[in-house]
Amino acid sequence: QNVLLNGELLERSKASIDIEDRGYQFGDGVYEVIRVYNGKMFTEEEHLDRLWASAASIGIEIPYSKKEVQEQLKLLVEKDQLVIGTVYLQFTRGISPRKHPFPANGVTPTFVAYTREVGRPVEKLQSGVKAIITDDIRWLRCDIKSLNLLGNLLANQKAAEAGCDEAVLHREGRVTEGSHSNISIVKGGKVYTHPANHFILNGISRRVMIEICKREEIPFIEEPFTVEELTQADEIFLTGTTVEVMPIVELAGKSISGGKPGPLTRKLQELFKSEIELQCGK
Ligand code: PMP
Repeated sequence: QNVLLNGELLERSKASIDIEDRGYQFGDGVYEVIRVYNGKMFTEEEHLDRLWASAASIGIEIPYSKKEVQEQLKLLVEKDQLVIGTVYLQFTRGISPRKHPFPANGVTPTFVAYTREVGRPVEKLQSGVKAIITDDIRWLRCDIKSLNLLGNLLANQKAAEAGCDEAVLHREGRVTEGSHSNISIVKGGKVYTHPANHFILNGISRRVMIEICKREEIPFIEEPFTVEELTQADEIFLTGTTVEVMPIVELAGKSISGGKPGPLTRKLQELFKSEIELQCGK
């Protein structure tokens, strides 16, 4: 396996990070996970645009053009001979003696990227997954894809301990998103999801799903819904880079849509798959 470290391709064992890298000490950085199907990156531009936006919002200046990063990632995927999987990439603010204020100019952000082989979660896409409901205790800039994921980790750990895949988060009864995915519900043939503001990460898969709804004239509403509305939904599904359109069939121990993926979720799954095939081939 190879690692892209500050623009250089190295064997993983040769890549090292300084103990005073601000990503390591403070989680002071941003990241992306891009899906690779058929050796090609899906919605790569959108992920890179979001990475640049995340970096800009915390004052990190990425020392490459998007095109340069794109070329480096392409080389990495080729070198690893990755057919199906993910590319993880992150930029931290860089290396500087530990101190809260941002270091003075002249510190170069640290860039790391590597791949992982991950198949499509075919079985779970068919059968659906279980989720718990828990408080959203995260900060108020969830729109930034920051390395600081403790709030997400604590929620997902609770889910794992309950034998579930995802934790659905809410703020005072209003559902925001999953610990590592966006969430939508279907009620009366309409799809509802939280608007893209500072309470959620505006998922790339969420955006693909919204585009599909618009194109197919599936009624789609970007409005927050409550935990009560969630539990009474006809169908519930998650969207995310690795989970695609993932049905939730059990929520807080109660069966949803008869314990199997609902018809609209199925339709969106299929259309999402067509979108993948359109960009990356079959
Ligand atoms: N929300 C959170 C908190 C996430 O971590 C993720 C992705 N990992 C998503 C939503 C989904 O985003 P995307 O579709 O871009 O993967």
